[in-house]
Amino acid sequence: MHIDAKPIDLKLTVPFRISRNVQYTSPNAIVQINYEEFTGLGEAAPDGYYGESLETMLACVSMFAGNLGDDPFAIEDILNRLDEIIGLNPSAKAAVDMALYDIVGKMLNVPLYKLLGLNAANTARTSFTIGIDTPENMAKKAVLAHDYPILKVKVGTKHDLDNLKAIREVSSATIRVDANTAWTPKEAIKMINALAPYNIEFVEQPVFAHDLDGLRLIRENVPVPIIADESCVTVDDIPRVAGCVDGINIKLMKCGGVRHALKMIHTARAHNLQVMIGCMIESSLAITAAAHLTPLVDYADLDGHLLIDNDPYTGVTVEKGKLILPDGPGLGVKPR
Ligand code: MG
Repeated sequence: MHIDAKPIDLKLTVPFRISRNVQYTSPNAIVQINYEEFTGLGEAAPDGYYGESLETMLACVSMFAGNLGDDPFAIEDILNRLDEIIGLNPSAKAAVDMALYDIVGKMLNVPLYKLLGLNAANTARTSFTIGIDTPENMAKKAVLAHDYPILKVKVGTKHDLDNLKAIREVSSATIRVDANTAWTPKEAIKMINALAPYNIEFVEQPVFAHDLDGLRLIRENVPVPIIADESCVTVDDIPRVAGCVDGINIKLMKCGGVRHALKMIHTARAHNLQVMIGCMIESSLAITAAAHLTPLVDYADLDGHLLIDNDPYTGVTVEKGKLILPDGPGLGVKPR
């Protein structure tokens, strides 16, 4: 099998601000694997928070070339081999994983969800994310997002309560909040109890990733479920976070792709955890790959492609928040 990668700069429609940074573009890469007459596509959204950059991701693809073998069905062996070549680097591995599932689906002429034995009617509804801004602007964005019945509101500022009040005044959507590690446990307990009357479905990652005791303390002192995102990167984290949170947010770019996400979903269930699938800023390519897994999860936050101006692909569509999977073979993604 032959592998190639090309960078693509995804441009955000509006600057995307979370508690720790602001993003104007996302330097992603498209990976293409060729096998006989079949082409598999994958995407990487390398994230500095998880130790990757576009450069490290492209360097990984160069290292992977020549190590893929010549059987795209041997996904388990191939991805184990890549883990032996280099640890971590999950977005580079996710792109390879996606491209392999795409090829296999195309060779068998079935969409990925069918390959996995899943029912496309059972996809989740995705939230639409409102980045941090002034209360007025966040309310305006909530009005513009009226087609989405679930909003994910980024928090972690001095004026979170004002932001939530402003959004609640103009929207009756289900609201989830995501603090992206912004609070101390004490602040989180105070803030979540203050936000709870605004009808919050759950709170994502209130504190620092490694503060599992903090997560447990918060969970015991607030009336809203707590979901781990930054605290739960791979399957190894699940036994550690179980008992500290109500659920986990799985991302292909954190864990290394579809194969690893499946392991995480089933491991989380064995630990009585709720499961969410989220994303980075990604095109319809990677978002569609993740969407194929949503019949297995409780919550989806797959809106990365809705936040960019120059999506080069079509794939999953969204109707009133419901993810509608494409029926083409493999990922079912096509150039726009
Ligand atoms: Mg999050």
